[in-house]
Amino acid sequence: MENYIPITFLNDFIFCPRSIYFHGVHGSMSQTQYHGKAQTVGKLAHESIDEGTYSTKKNVLMGTDIFCEKYNLSGKIDVFDIDQKKLTERKYKIQKIYDGYVFQVYAQYFSLIELGYEVEKIIIHDRSANKNYPIALPSEDKEMFTKFEKLIEEINQFDLSDPNFKPNIEKCKKCIYSHLCDFSLV
Ligand code: SF4
Repeated sequence: MENYIPITFLNDFIFCPRSIYFHGVHGSMSQTQYHGKAQTVGKLAHESIDEGTYSTKKNVLMGTDIFCEKYNLSGKIDVFDIDQKKLTERKYKIQKIYDGYVFQVYAQYFSLIELGYEVEKIIIHDRSANKNYPIALPSEDKEMFTKFEKLIEEINQFDLSDPNFKPNIEKCKKCIYSHLCDFSLV
């Protein structure tokens, strides 16, 4: 398999391109060693899916490994109801629908399409508020689709040693990798 982009990198790259390097380095560590609280709670929201305990309903894909050849992406389907043609991504708590959230469901969407599934609805679900946020399909939202493709291109072209990289102090303050990063401003 060629190098692929983990779907989880899409959101991280938007936060800070350098963070995907540290995300990758820590991929081999126990996640409890480096996950911040918010990320750990979010991860727990996914565990019932990863362990296949969310639903016993037939024709539902949960935590299924997927790969998108067109964009060279790899990850997992959160919940896909084959009969309803509905893709759902669950989050523990949603303050706003960040672009990165949308791009992550786009990545799942394109992977499913390549596998021959029909996807007619995309939902991002806030578990804490029990609220659904409908997301337009890529074909219905040209602006977001263009941004998605641009992001993939930027990730493919990113150079970790780029001396012109400019960190953002507000992001560094919130970054869980600041103690490891040479460019950290905190
Ligand atoms: S410390 Fe700052 S520059 Fe380094 S990865 Fe985090 S946000 Fe990016």
